[in-house]
Amino acid sequence: MSPERPPDAPDSRVTVCLSFDFDAISIWTGPRGSRSPNLTARGEFSTIGAHRLLDLLDERSLPSTWFIPGHTIDTFGDVCARVVSDGHEVGYHGYCHEAPSSKRDEADERAILTRSMDCLERLSGSTPVGHRVPGGNCGDRWIGLLIEHGFSYDSSMARNDYAPTWCRLGDVPTTDGPHQFGGEVDLVQLPFDWILDDWPYFSYDGPTVQGLRTPDHVYDVWSAEFDYLCDRVGSGVFVLTMHPQCIGRGSRMLMLERLIDHMASQPSVTFATMAAVADEFRAAAKPGDQANRRL
Ligand SMILES: [Zn+2]
Repeated sequence: MSPERPPDAPDSRVTVCLSFDFDAISIWTGPRGSRSPNLTARGEFSTIGAHRLLDLLDERSLPSTWFIPGHTIDTFGDVCARVVSDGHEVGYHGYCHEAPSSKRDEADERAILTRSMDCLERLSGSTPVGHRVPGGNCGDRWIGLLIEHGFSYDSSMARNDYAPTWCRLGDVPTTDGPHQFGGEVDLVQLPFDWILDDWPYFSYDGPTVQGLRTPDHVYDVWSAEFDYLCDRVGSGVFVLTMHPQCIGRGSRMLMLERLIDHMASQPSVTFATMAAVADEFRAAAKPGDQANRRL
């Protein structure tokens, strides 16, 4: 049975989550180990991009979610403070953009998690409920730590492109038989996929990522993904992941404005923080039941 609802269902509606990974300099000095002033400058540009984005969100009265490494909070406190004072949600994104799998043991992972959470609590005055893993991969131990520390949701993967699900623990990958799925756990999974992330399209990152696509190219992909949700699926959540150092350039800002206008003009479309979407999902579903097929 298809998990999707017909677009003409009476409760059809779409929620757009605008999310920003405010990596700034940390993505260059942390996982890439760079000490290059050129890359530092690219990270530094994030602050200009962030202010442009915050201006846009303010003009349109739109909520959003910012995943901010502790390093960015310690380096660019003023713009991070504006994210909070403008009313946006802030979530976990490491201290210096560390991938949990790069840590040697659980003690290392705990140290990074608590240091980063301390930065966010100092910034916002509250404990973060949202998490996006730096670098795109996290294992069972890390997910267990997120649950232990009271996180409500993760947004690092997507087994359903348009719907929240529950995270799982205990999968056993196999090669000589069917994959063995673990059990769902009390951590909401909000979709993340590179197709809706600006980094591969717009970043120039040495030999691995040579994006520099035109804004029109990205508009075509993102708007088609959004239109398919509205026209064919009917209900769900549309999570965009953007980086101020990528999307903050003028030509891309104009594309984002055009996309927001398009999305906002569609019937039954609202914008929300990711924490709000997770709360709504939690109210309607429990880990292990089939209600998690629906938003
Ligand atoms: Zn990041």
